[in-house]
Amino acid sequence: MYNPKSLKAEEFIDDDEIKETLAYADANKDNFELIDSILEKAKRLKGLSHREASVLLACEDADRIEKMYALAEQIKKDFYGNRIVMFAPLYSSNYCINGCKYCPYHIANKHIARKKLTQEEIRKEVIALQDMGHKRLAIEAGEDPQNNPIEYILECIKTIYSIKHKNGAIRRVNVNIAATTVEEYRMLADAGIGTYILFQETYNKKSYEELHPYGPKSNYAYHTEAMDRAMEGGIDDVGLGVLFGLELYRYEFAGLLMHAEHLEAVHGVGPHTISVPRVKHADDIDPDTFDNGIDDDTFAKICALIRISVPYTGMIISTRESQQVREKVIRLGVSQISGASRTSVGGYYEPEPEEENSEQFDVSDKRTLDEVVKWLMELGYIPSFCTACYREGRTGDRFMSLCKSGQIQNCCHPNALMTLKEFLCDYASEDTRKIGEALIDAELANIPREKVREVCRENLMNIEKGMRDFRF
Ligand code: SF4
Ligand code: SF4
Repeated sequence: MYNPKSLKAEEFIDDDEIKETLAYADANKDNFELIDSILEKAKRLKGLSHREASVLLACEDADRIEKMYALAEQIKKDFYGNRIVMFAPLYSSNYCINGCKYCPYHIANKHIARKKLTQEEIRKEVIALQDMGHKRLAIEAGEDPQNNPIEYILECIKTIYSIKHKNGAIRRVNVNIAATTVEEYRMLADAGIGTYILFQETYNKKSYEELHPYGPKSNYAYHTEAMDRAMEGGIDDVGLGVLFGLELYRYEFAGLLMHAEHLEAVHGVGPHTISVPRVKHADDIDPDTFDNGIDDDTFAKICALIRISVPYTGMIISTRESQQVREKVIRLGVSQISGASRTSVGGYYEPEPEEENSEQFDVSDKRTLDEVVKWLMELGYIPSFCTACYREGRTGDRFMSLCKSGQIQNCCHPNALMTLKEFLCDYASEDTRKIGEALIDAELANIPREKVREVCRENLMNIEKGMRDFRF
């Protein structure tokens, strides 16, 4: 029985409710009166329910799809302006005892190189990331209580935060590790993590069980209820995601929004971010063996509809996607992207030899961070290295209420300019710096409050003189 307030996975992600939603969406995909009224509701920035959003996803009318894209672009502009937050993943260990069929780290893969970084290796990786200009990392590790116990992850986080190399610093560590207990989530919260990220992979229980034949991750309910335990453990910001390509995308889309509605209903705050990865080629993984791959247009439509349905939730896209696809979906609502990523264990400090491949998936966008930053600015975006909210205690419902009141804009814009300035001073090529300085000059005028504008201008001058880490 569907119940968004239930703490039982099969009740808040109720299979019958999803099937009924898809049937309702099919029955109404040409009901233009209903579709127009849903679009009107979305314009009021109150978000959409999984049923409403599913109707839009089913709609094939070209004019209305154009309207969805236009609205997504407008909402993106209203909430996120032209800023794009930058981050990089850091794989610390690919030891894993699970059997996930879409991931090369599954335990039965005997030919992938298994690696686990020592604290000294973490230090070298972090320095290499700082030297590119990164300030925000997502630490990733396979599930293996012997090789990667929580103590190892905590030690890695401590090491990452402790490294201050030249003007570099990692100011926010997000964590992407397996579902765990309330007690271990509490340890992560105490370690000062940013967002806890856990992809559901698929919301379809039957498919989930087929794709995860053994290992702790095979327990659908334990995995699906992880975010509730994370929040109970004191983690305010959680990041959802599905791996598109495993199941029917319309099923996943409805499930994802139902999960967001569940978090809002139980904890009073929805997900902080949603990631939208697609299955990609990797050692031992051929994406063509999965029947549910989605083309670039469907992918763009999904991104646009997530933006419309949960306007306050950040959306993340990784270097799994090509420059071309990234360009399209950034416009439609993505607010955070990775740059210059390595999906191997290690590889930032020195590239791993070919015979020791430990990559989780092939990277499509292989440009350097400087190239990505320059590209974004040439497209009219402000690359932002901001990490201010978590450090100012603006997390969970405090963050969401600021977001909903629109006040967050007064922080994001100047913070983007100041952190971009740091990047330009410390890490950018001459070309990038020139473009960036002109962009900052022009964008200063777009800070609405005069007082904030003046403080920002002064801070920018102080950054030029060598001071760092200003924030609103
Ligand atoms: S997806 Fe995660 S849990 Fe599954 S095999 Fe890969 S690293 Fe292990
Ligand atoms: S001010 Fe907060 S919401 Fe805005 S970019 Fe910085 S961390 Fe993100």
